[in-house]
Amino acid sequence: MFLLHCPYCGEHRDEEEFSNAGEAYIARPAVPEEADDATWGDYVFMRRNTKGWFWEQWQHTAACRKVFAVKRNTATYEIAGSWTLAEGKALFEADLALARARSTVPDAAHAQAGVPAKAAAPAQEARQ
Ligand SMILES: [Zn+2]
Repeated sequence: MFLLHCPYCGEHRDEEEFSNAGEAYIARPAVPEEADDATWGDYVFMRRNTKGWFWEQWQHTAACRKVFAVKRNTATYEIAGSWTLAEGKALFEADLALARARSTVPDAAHAQAGVPAKAAAPAQEARQ
Protein backbone atom coordinates (compact mmCIF):
# COMPACT_ATOMS: atom_id res chain seq x y z
CA MET A 1 0.00 0.00 0.00
CA PHE A 2 1.26 3.47 -0.81
CA LEU A 3 0.13 7.06 -0.99
CA LEU A 4 -0.48 8.89 -4.24
CA HIS A 5 -0.66 12.63 -4.72
CA CYS A 6 -3.59 13.76 -6.84
CA PRO A 7 -2.47 16.90 -8.70
CA TYR A 8 -6.11 18.00 -9.00
CA CYS A 9 -7.21 17.54 -5.37
CA GLY A 10 -3.76 18.56 -4.10
CA GLU A 11 -3.63 15.82 -1.47
CA HIS A 12 -1.73 12.62 -0.75
CA ARG A 13 -4.33 9.86 -0.47
CA ASP A 14 -4.30 6.11 0.03
CA GLU A 15 -3.70 3.96 -3.05
CA GLU A 16 -7.15 2.40 -2.58
CA GLU A 17 -8.78 5.67 -3.72
CA PHE A 18 -7.16 5.32 -7.14
CA SER A 19 -7.29 2.99 -10.13
CA ASN A 20 -4.26 2.23 -12.25
CA ALA A 21 -5.09 3.16 -15.82
CA GLY A 22 -1.99 1.63 -17.39
CA GLU A 23 0.96 2.91 -19.31
CA ALA A 24 1.03 6.66 -19.93
CA TYR A 25 1.83 8.55 -23.10
CA ILE A 26 1.36 5.76 -25.62
CA ALA A 27 2.02 7.28 -29.03
CA ARG A 28 -1.07 7.11 -31.25
CA PRO A 29 -0.30 6.66 -34.97
CA ALA A 30 -0.34 10.14 -36.55
CA VAL A 31 -2.78 9.08 -39.28
CA PRO A 32 -4.76 6.11 -37.93
CA GLU A 33 -6.42 5.43 -41.29
CA GLU A 34 -2.99 4.86 -42.82
CA ALA A 35 -1.63 2.60 -40.06
CA ASP A 36 -1.29 -1.05 -41.04
CA ASP A 37 -2.93 -3.73 -38.89
CA ALA A 38 0.29 -4.57 -37.02
CA THR A 39 0.93 -0.91 -36.11
CA TRP A 40 -2.67 -0.38 -35.01
CA GLY A 41 -2.67 -3.65 -33.07
CA ASP A 42 0.50 -2.61 -31.23
CA TYR A 43 -1.06 0.75 -30.36
CA VAL A 44 -4.30 -0.78 -29.05
CA PHE A 45 -3.06 -3.94 -27.34
CA MET A 46 0.67 -4.01 -26.67
CA ARG A 47 1.93 -2.57 -23.40
CA ARG A 48 5.33 -2.55 -21.76
CA ASN A 49 5.78 -4.38 -18.49
CA THR A 50 8.71 -2.45 -17.17
CA LYS A 51 10.57 -3.35 -14.01
CA GLY A 52 11.87 -0.07 -12.62
CA TRP A 53 10.88 3.49 -13.42
CA PHE A 54 7.68 3.65 -15.40
CA TRP A 55 5.22 6.34 -16.43
CA GLU A 56 1.67 5.33 -15.56
CA GLN A 57 -1.79 6.84 -15.65
CA TRP A 58 -3.85 6.75 -12.47
CA GLN A 59 -7.45 7.80 -11.97
CA HIS A 60 -8.66 9.27 -8.68
CA THR A 61 -11.79 7.13 -8.76
CA ALA A 62 -12.93 7.85 -5.18
CA ALA A 63 -12.84 11.63 -5.51
CA CYS A 64 -12.33 13.91 -8.53
CA ARG A 65 -12.25 10.99 -11.04
CA LYS A 66 -9.55 12.74 -13.07
CA VAL A 67 -6.70 10.87 -14.76
CA PHE A 68 -3.12 12.00 -14.19
CA ALA A 69 0.46 10.85 -14.74
CA VAL A 70 2.66 9.18 -12.12
CA LYS A 71 6.32 8.25 -12.46
CA ARG A 72 6.66 5.18 -10.27
CA ASN A 73 9.30 2.53 -9.74
CA THR A 74 7.44 -0.73 -10.22
CA ALA A 75 10.08 -2.69 -8.31
CA THR A 76 10.39 -0.49 -5.21
CA TYR A 77 7.07 1.45 -5.26
CA GLU A 78 9.08 4.67 -5.00
CA ILE A 79 7.19 7.54 -6.59
CA ALA A 80 9.09 10.36 -8.29
CA GLY A 81 6.00 12.52 -8.62
CA SER A 82 2.56 13.00 -10.08
CA TRP A 83 1.37 15.56 -12.58
CA THR A 84 -1.56 16.39 -14.78
CA LEU A 85 -1.17 14.61 -18.11
CA ALA A 86 -0.24 17.90 -19.77
CA GLU A 87 2.35 18.80 -17.12
CA GLY A 88 3.92 15.34 -17.12
CA LYS A 89 4.25 15.09 -20.89
CA ALA A 90 7.36 17.30 -21.08
CA LEU A 91 9.03 15.38 -18.24
CA PHE A 92 8.15 12.06 -19.89
CA GLU A 93 9.62 13.22 -23.20
CA ALA A 94 12.80 14.38 -21.43
CA ASP A 95 13.11 10.93 -19.80
CA LEU A 96 12.55 9.27 -23.17
CA ALA A 97 15.22 11.41 -24.87
CA LEU A 98 17.68 10.61 -22.07
CA ALA A 99 16.95 6.87 -22.31
CA ARG A 100 17.46 6.95 -26.07
CA ALA A 101 20.74 8.84 -25.69
CA ARG A 102 22.02 6.22 -23.24
CA SER A 103 20.78 3.25 -25.26
CA THR A 104 23.22 0.93 -26.98
CA VAL A 105 20.41 -0.55 -29.04
CA PRO A 106 20.90 0.55 -32.61
CA ASP A 107 18.07 2.61 -34.03
CA ALA A 108 16.91 2.07 -37.61
CA ALA A 109 19.34 4.51 -39.20
CA HIS A 110 22.33 3.16 -37.32
CA ALA A 111 21.29 -0.45 -37.84
CA GLN A 112 21.36 0.08 -41.58
CA ALA A 113 24.90 1.39 -41.34
CA GLY A 114 25.85 -1.35 -38.87
CA VAL A 115 26.91 1.22 -36.27
CA PRO A 116 25.54 1.04 -32.72
CA ALA A 117 23.73 4.22 -31.65
CA LYS A 118 26.21 4.86 -28.80
CA ALA A 119 29.15 4.96 -31.22
CA ALA A 120 27.37 7.72 -33.15
CA ALA A 121 26.95 9.90 -30.04
CA PRO A 122 28.02 13.54 -30.29
CA ALA A 123 31.75 14.21 -30.56
CA GLN A 124 31.64 16.00 -27.20
CA GLU A 125 31.05 12.66 -25.45
CA ALA A 126 33.85 10.97 -27.39
CA ARG A 127 36.41 13.50 -26.13
CA GLN A 128 35.79 12.67 -22.46
ZN1 LIG B 1 -8.31 13.94 -7.16
